[in-house]
Amino acid sequence: MSIPALVEPAAELTVDEVRRYSRHLIIPDVGMIGQKRLKNAKVLVIGAGGLGSPALMYLAAAGVGTIGIVEFDEVDESNLQRQIIHGQSDVGRPKAISAKESVEEINPLVKVVVHGERLDNDNVYAIFEGYDLIVDGTDNFATRYMVNDAAYFLGIPYVWGSIYRFDGQASVYAAGLRNSDDPVMREAAAEAPCYRCLYPEPPPPGMVPSCAEGGVLGVLCASIGSIQVNEAIKMLTGMGDPLVGKLMIYDALEMEYRKLKVRRDPNCALCGENATVTELIDYESFCGAVSEEAADAAAGSTISVHQLKQWLDDRDDIFLVDVREQVEWDINRIPGATLIPKGDFLNGSALEKLPSDKQVVLHCKSGVRSAEVLAILKGAGFSDAVHVGGGVVAWVNQIDPSQPSY
Ligand SMILES: [Zn+2]
Repeated sequence: MSIPALVEPAAELTVDEVRRYSRHLIIPDVGMIGQKRLKNAKVLVIGAGGLGSPALMYLAAAGVGTIGIVEFDEVDESNLQRQIIHGQSDVGRPKAISAKESVEEINPLVKVVVHGERLDNDNVYAIFEGYDLIVDGTDNFATRYMVNDAAYFLGIPYVWGSIYRFDGQASVYAAGLRNSDDPVMREAAAEAPCYRCLYPEPPPPGMVPSCAEGGVLGVLCASIGSIQVNEAIKMLTGMGDPLVGKLMIYDALEMEYRKLKVRRDPNCALCGENATVTELIDYESFCGAVSEEAADAAAGSTISVHQLKQWLDDRDDIFLVDVREQVEWDINRIPGATLIPKGDFLNGSALEKLPSDKQVVLHCKSGVRSAEVLAILKGAGFSDAVHVGGGVVAWVNQIDPSQPSY
């Protein structure tokens, strides 16, 4: 699906700009006019993390005139394996500031706008307004749906990407252009799907691990982030055939790219003919931090890491179970725990390993998976089982800072 250029060309390029962008200018498809469009473009990048890092760096180098950065977090040592816009000396500093400085070092001709806050329903319109295109580098489902809906209502197309371990995906969701004032744009986007056309419902809570729980190969971020910039440049300048109505799937282990067709869903809750989502919704509850069963099981059966420490010191009838995976156990652990991964509870093989005369205490990395397992255990008759709120992350932060975190 080809889409007309999103941006009108700027009046001029300066001599400095012509020198800097000469390798673009001599590509006939880009030329002076394409580079002037990039100069006039305003692109918002959500997140200065795994995908945002390469995206920001290449957008800056390409000469996108105004780049917005939405990011509230600070640089952590565990980010540096993949978030290459930040360096060692940035640890502990706001990511948005660190990213801004890197962008300005790459290309001082770019104007950087920092939005140093967490994106939410109250600020999303004000932040998005005025941008031609959004590059979404978020890592959680609640924010993804919010970005999709807000971009659609404001008529802004966006480039989406997602990464996990060795697998990446990318697409361009341009359904919002049907809300454009420009009839040519409305016509071009007549069949463009949105994220909800492809994923009408978020995955059940706890089913899809995040990169923080499951890991990600650092260089995968560059593969997907650079595809996002590639598509952004095409959309801004009207070049080629962008990933509108197509989903790119990348497998780094097989080194295979596949492209699937994604159709607009005429019954889509957001961009369909009888839309039911007509304004921003409560995305946290739509996506659910934990499932209802897990939340019920955890209510009144959650202990703190301090309580756990006391139990481990004072009692000898505690059976502490770590439901994470072996690779996580190899990084850090709570002393005295037994590793029984969540999968063994799902297939039932874990139950025979549990003593019936001891107090069973479950923990995982942050408390989400252990709450899911707690629901299974309670269903199997372990009514006094509990789980540890905050998991091993809280243990390392509050009880034993000598251990590494991840
Ligand atoms: Zn849709």
